[in-house]
Amino acid sequence: MSQIFEAALAPYAARSTTSPGRGFAESASDTRSEFQRDRDRIIHSTAFRRLEYKTQVFVNHEGDLFRTRLTHSIEVAQIARSLARNLQLNEDLVEAISLAHDLGHTPFGHAGQDALNACMKDYDGFEHNLQSLRVVDKLEQRYGAFDGLNLMFETREGILKHCSLPHAQQLGDIGLRFIEKKQPSLEAQIANLADEIAYNNHDIDDGLRSGLISVEQLQEVALYERHRAEVETLFPGISGRRAINETVRRMINALVVDLIDTSRANIQAAGVKSLNDVRNAPPLVAFSEGMKQEAQALKRFLRHNLYQHYLVNRMTSKARRIVTDLFGIFISGPQLLPPDYQTASGDVSVQARKVADYIAGMTDRYAMREYRRLFAVDEI
Ligand code: MG
Repeated sequence: MSQIFEAALAPYAARSTTSPGRGFAESASDTRSEFQRDRDRIIHSTAFRRLEYKTQVFVNHEGDLFRTRLTHSIEVAQIARSLARNLQLNEDLVEAISLAHDLGHTPFGHAGQDALNACMKDYDGFEHNLQSLRVVDKLEQRYGAFDGLNLMFETREGILKHCSLPHAQQLGDIGLRFIEKKQPSLEAQIANLADEIAYNNHDIDDGLRSGLISVEQLQEVALYERHRAEVETLFPGISGRRAINETVRRMINALVVDLIDTSRANIQAAGVKSLNDVRNAPPLVAFSEGMKQEAQALKRFLRHNLYQHYLVNRMTSKARRIVTDLFGIFISGPQLLPPDYQTASGDVSVQARKVADYIAGMTDRYAMREYRRLFAVDEI
């Protein structure tokens, strides 16, 4: 089936027919391409369902309309598919990578990951990208013949967006590109930038919805201001949510169009003819210099005004305490862990990794419940 679905792709697109394939050989599907199959396995995984209750910026219970990791991942996939289709790249692959890219995230967003990494400093650390790969390679247990989801090489490569050199050296073929300083497929590069487009724009939307940032403050962000002015010219007197939505959708469109045009020109200029050429070229999926500057200004704005807002800091501090205390109580008392997460090996680093897997897999509300169960004296 893969040949039929992948026939119309550009010569430098990733194809299942020329892929190194899966770690554990499987017969081809009668109805789907191999990358469609990866996407479907990801959607049916336990880790994917957990994304619904994991924080993006706002903790899940703070409001029903804020993005969660699940809705964020769906938005990333939507943007990435548009980009891929316009560039004649493998839409099924970008969708699979996008839906899986955050599977390894801890509860409470980056605060949770930083806390867990600090707890794990004597046991080889914790990186959420590496954890996403670990989820699809090892932790999901659904199939009789293998651990994990047994995904295609290119899907796994796209999930492992960043990786420290010492970890890359332990990973074999999938870590090689970090050592050889080569690029991943264009599909992986697209999923990476689609992630950025999605969170920059939805964090503005969620930030305004929460009241932590205001439309007045956003006047200093050129990308926002330009599109807000355009919306007011087109719809005089427009206000409230409608004005914000009309502005944000224009910003997303501007970023998408710029990325398509710039990447297409880069691909042409580099003269790449195959995925192998893509790997040896510099990164080809990119914004124009002007748009890059504007996107960076937007990021800076969000960092100063939203991610470091004192109300967000309060949640971050609480998240750090929950993760750190959970790790502490489990590592000093592994008998408190569910049996699956206890190890008889007696090796503390093996036990620490199991504790990290347990904590990383928790949703925000599960982590809070577990914290109360273990630390609140009036809770059983
Ligand atoms: Mg993301």
